Amino acid sequence: MRNAIRQAVDITKVSESKIGQVDFNNLNFGKVFTDHMFVCDYVNGEWQTPKIVPYGPLTLDPSARVFHYGQAVFEGMKAYKDDHGDTFLFRPDENFKRINKSSERLAMPEFPESYFFDGLNTLLELENDWIKPGFGNSLYIRPFSIATQASVSASEADEYKFMIICSPAQSYYSGDVSVLIAEEFSRSANGGIGYAKAAGNYAAQFYPTNLAKKQGYQQIIWTDADTHQYIEEAGTMNLFFRVNDTLLTAPISDRILDGVTRKSLITIAEKEGIHVDVRPIKVSEIVDAATNGSLKEIFGAGTAAVVSPIKAFGYKGEHYELTPQENSYAAHFKKALLDIQYNKVEDPFGWRV
Ligand code: PMP
Repeated sequence: MRNAIRQAVDITKVSESKIGQVDFNNLNFGKVFTDHMFVCDYVNGEWQTPKIVPYGPLTLDPSARVFHYGQAVFEGMKAYKDDHGDTFLFRPDENFKRINKSSERLAMPEFPESYFFDGLNTLLELENDWIKPGFGNSLYIRPFSIATQASVSASEADEYKFMIICSPAQSYYSGDVSVLIAEEFSRSANGGIGYAKAAGNYAAQFYPTNLAKKQGYQQIIWTDADTHQYIEEAGTMNLFFRVNDTLLTAPISDRILDGVTRKSLITIAEKEGIHVDVRPIKVSEIVDAATNGSLKEIFGAGTAAVVSPIKAFGYKGEHYELTPQENSYAAHFKKALLDIQYNKVEDPFGWRV
């Protein structure tokens, strides 16, 4: 445990767990939530005593500022259980730092580290039975913070709620995805909030993604807002391109989320002697590489899907299919990460907590 003395958390337990009603072999991602949730209110310039209470609806004033001005940030992380019943988090410090970075950008108060980790650890102990062992099973953890102050005045709120809710998840194979490279719409702009895990970044993606779906693509690869000539990232994943035996990934900027999976894959690849070129990637070079056969793989990297192979992309009315690779980097990296997350191998990086 992180601290010898834990931050006091007021706990109200459910009288009866609903776990018996859950079919763990048939989970829809993000639909079922565990028995309890973590809640901490910010009032009078201070975070109040954190609480763990039965999971349930919130009562908010209709004028709560989150509904009007969108001060809302979140994180996505997972707890994994190994075959001995021990539970692990993967680089949770990164998520903690990132939600505070997101909060800072949206003029929201930062959340204290001891409140976060003591609250999370206490919640995970309570929900231990919801974390199922076995490769691919996990507990998806969703910390988030919202402006609750009742007032439609257009300025930052002075009351907030920080919460953590948890949802059991299963690995599922959604099939390799086809993506459309954006030519018109943008996800974020220079000086904007692209690097923050702000709710509004996601709201803005749904409409263009629906248009892409009508053309048979599941997701969009976002390009830079100025020229649409450089690759950025996908909806909830950072991207890697394997050209011959080199991996390319775009550098982090104020437009791109600094993904934990992305930076972990770069570290693993470098340790294994696979060259990773972190540099701006032109759409035209990916099109050329797809045409001349040097583009071997594209994959997304993110907490939810870990590593998600992309089998085809569309650009300017053309469709480019990739040839499936034996010994793909995507499969290799996925296994390398899962082995660390599920405590199957030594963790040379100290990522497992
Ligand atoms: N980009 C975006 C926009 C995301 O929402 C996510 C998911 N958090 C990622 C990339 C991947 O980040 P991570 O590896 O930390 O989950």
